[in-house]
Amino acid sequence: MKILFHEKFYESDYADNGASVPGRMEAIMDVIGQERSFEHVRPRPAEEEEVLLAHAPEYVETIKSNRRLYDMAALAAGAAIMASDIGITGEPAFACLRPPGHHAYRKSSWGYCVFSNMGIALLRLKQQKRIASAFILDFDAHTGDGTRDVLSDWKQCRILNPYADNSQEYIGEIGAFVKKISSVDIVGVCAGFDSYQKDVGRKLATSDFYMIGVMMKQFARRAAHQRRFAILEGGYFLPDLGKNVLAFCQGFL
Ligand SMILES: [Zn+2]
Repeated sequence: MKILFHEKFYESDYADNGASVPGRMEAIMDVIGQERSFEHVRPRPAEEEEVLLAHAPEYVETIKSNRRLYDMAALAAGAAIMASDIGITGEPAFACLRPPGHHAYRKSSWGYCVFSNMGIALLRLKQQKRIASAFILDFDAHTGDGTRDVLSDWKQCRILNPYADNSQEYIGEIGAFVKKISSVDIVGVCAGFDSYQKDVGRKLATSDFYMIGVMMKQFARRAAHQRRFAILEGGYFLPDLGKNVLAFCQGFL
């Protein structure tokens, strides 16, 4: 399993609205950095033409007016791209990145997000004709509205944001959804850990993140030639964030 991470992601003051939440990357890397079975890979920034696969030129220009924010967001998109490049070989990859992307629309964004990291990664693979279909599981506490907007024209891309009230039903909803899919070219996971029982979502336990990782691995084995990758979205309960990310990754690998 490969972990995409750049030390620049430790910087939390790139967004002037205070939205980048200091300490998140440390909370994760302090735990998964200890795992000897994970190989760490340093990402490259996304090229502007890659960003433009998912975003309108005028929106990209607006972000570019804040060079520091643009550079950070391009590096995050690059980490997602590299995770997808590894994932498509059948080796699992997790991109530990910031800013997150699932609230980034084609022409706007909110909720800490800037560029659609998942959208850019998948649209690039599609443009290169390496995939024609995709499945995205987004288990963040919040709906990936931006991802849906960016990928809305792509009929062969199916997206699941589970809505169930409790963890048992939540896991069941994921199982029922993927059971109906017989074949897909790649599995992408928008991994948002604010669905944790002590975070804003008040739902999932650490063992549930492990189980979701296992389910996506098994689904990818059955229906997607093992091709799978995951990227970080939300997650703000710092004392347990690292162990939750680790649990997901251990299930996913
Ligand atoms: Zn969230």
